[in-house]
Formats: sequence, C-alpha cells, structure tokens
Amino acid sequence: MADLLDELTRKALRRERPTREEALAVLAGEDELLEVVAAGARVRRRFFGRRVKLNTIINMKSGLCPEDCSYCSQRLGSTAEILKYSWITPEDAARTAGRAVDAGVKRVCLVASGRGPGDRDVRRIEDTIAAIREDAAENGRPEAEICVCLGLLQEGQAERLREAGAHAYSHNLNTSEERYSEICTTHTFADRVDTLQRAAASGLSPCSGAIFGMGESDGDIVDLAFALRELDPDSVPVNFLIPFEGTPLGDRWELTPDRCLRILALFRFCFPDVEVRLAGGREIHLRSLQPLALHLANSVFLGDYLTSEGRPGADDRQMIADAGFTIEGADEATLPGARRDLVAIRRRGAGTEEPANT
Ligand code: SF4
Repeated sequence: MADLLDELTRKALRRERPTREEALAVLAGEDELLEVVAAGARVRRRFFGRRVKLNTIINMKSGLCPEDCSYCSQRLGSTAEILKYSWITPEDAARTAGRAVDAGVKRVCLVASGRGPGDRDVRRIEDTIAAIREDAAENGRPEAEICVCLGLLQEGQAERLREAGAHAYSHNLNTSEERYSEICTTHTFADRVDTLQRAAASGLSPCSGAIFGMGESDGDIVDLAFALRELDPDSVPVNFLIPFEGTPLGDRWELTPDRCLRILALFRFCFPDVEVRLAGGREIHLRSLQPLALHLANSVFLGDYLTSEGRPGADDRQMIADAGFTIEGADEATLPGARRDLVAIRRRGAGTEEPANT
C-alpha cells in the first residue's frame, strides 16, 4: 500500500488524476491513516506551502426555500428551528464582511436560499458588492474576494455578477449523479452542472464541492470527485453533513474523523493544485483531529455557517498557528501560477476609475 500512496503522490505532483481503483483504495481504509495524510500533505505543501486561506459565509436570505434538498435546514418542509429572514441590506452585509476581513478572512461568500435569483436578487447582490468595496476603501481594508452562491443561474446573470465585481460563483454538486434524485427531487444534477458551466463561461472562478455523510458509497464519492474534476473548478469545498433535526437526514451520524480525513486526502489527490476547502461539519465530525485536516485542505471556512454556529474564529486561528500553518495574506495568490493566470481579478470597468476593456 505504501507503493499506492507513492504512486498517488507522484501522479498528483504531475496533476494527473488517480485511477478509479487507486481512488477507491484511499477510501477503503487499509492504510494507516497517518500515512495517507502524510502522502496528501506532500501534495498540499508542494502547491500551497503552509498557507491557509480563510473564508466566511454571509447568509443574505435564510430559510423558506421552495427546493427540497434533504440535507438542508432551509428546505421546503424543514421544521428545523433556524433563523428565517428575507434579504439583509447591502450595508449590513458590508459591515459583516469588514469584520471578517479584519479577522483575517480573504474570501467572502454571499449566499442566499432559493432555487435561483430573479433580476431583483441579482441587483441586490450588485449593490452588496458595491457596498463591500466602498466600505473596504473607506476603512483602508484589503478588498475581499467575493464569491456568490444564489442557486441556479439563468442566462446573463453570471455576466452581471462578474461585471459587478464578483470573483467566483459557488454551486456544489453535493453528491454523485447516480444518487442525486435520492437527495433532491426539485432540480437535477444536470441543472447544477449547467449553472457551474455558465459561471465559468462568464469568467467567474468556478467553485463546486460536495457534502459527505449522506449514505453515499465509496463508489459514489469517487464518481463525484471525478465529475467535479471534469468541471475544472478552482475551488472545491468539502462539507460533512450537519444533521439538522427537522430535515430528512436529521438522524444521520455516519461519519468518523478517520473517514473524513480519507475523503479529504482523496480530494487532495484528485485536486492537487486546486483550493480544497474544509467546510461545514468539520467541527462535529473531525472533532479533535481537525488539525490533521489542515495538512490536506489549504482553505477553511471561519466562523458561523448558513444556519448553524461554527466555533470562535480565535480558536481556529490558534489551531492554524499551533499546527504550524500561516494565514494567507490578501497580497498572496491562493492558486499556483498555472491556474492563477487563468483567473484575473477585475480591476477595471464598473466600480473603478479605469475604463472597461471592451
Ligand atoms: S440547498 Fe439551497 S436550493 Fe437546496 S433547499 Fe437549501 S437553500 Fe434551497
């Protein structure tokens, strides 16, 4: 098995995808966990050094979604006792974003529940991006990267978000195509792929990941990893199910720290030079082994999630320092050169003094 890990590491350093058999072997659990983590850590260090990028979520509109994603506390019919509110104002979002940037956050993710945005919703996000940038300029803060996550996009919406200054669009595939209809009946895997492709085609940096712990097999995990790789995302959030009472998956507690770390290692082998982001559920499923996950993921969400609370940012910053990592600065590039060159953050046109390059 040491041979397998050597081979996976060699391939990842060349940005080659593992075979299906190799990927399944990582999950099968025959290797010592620390050996798997050490192999993934070599790949992580090669492309991302010891930097950890911090991200935060701002839930712009919470609950009351007409879609029925089984894992989601905001879904149709959810009785989870979450906060429910309509759109927060651009100013409120800008204040929250500013506090997060002061705490070391580099990317701010503007998320809203719902099937997808209408025109007014896109306008709200345009205003919010403008307010965040204005607030940063007024307070002499570095500009955060803005990622937007509003569900399924219609024609022209990605372009508007890009024009407004969004850097990325996030839309997770969540689970394998084969079992997608088991976790959601109101939209399809293909709908999600379509939105991600629209976002990428508009010049937004594509972000798409997964949720694990929803009854998927090892084969499903590998199918999803390979499907995601086909889409060539710049960022891949790895979520572990947060089982909310009042949702269909509310009693599903099937993950162990060992399982989570093997999944993260597999994602590092499949996405060697891509931002692999430790996302929701890390605290409750990785528990005391969270620091090991930093050797695989190069990016982490700080603070609270959409509808559940994360742990204090100070604890995470301490964990990062204790594990020998440093927080990625605003002036440091996240992605290695070959990838970064494909995504230039817009510094001209709308919202700047520079003319657009039309
Ligand atoms: S994941 Fe998004 S689309 Fe699905 S129910 Fe939750 S808020 Fe709605």
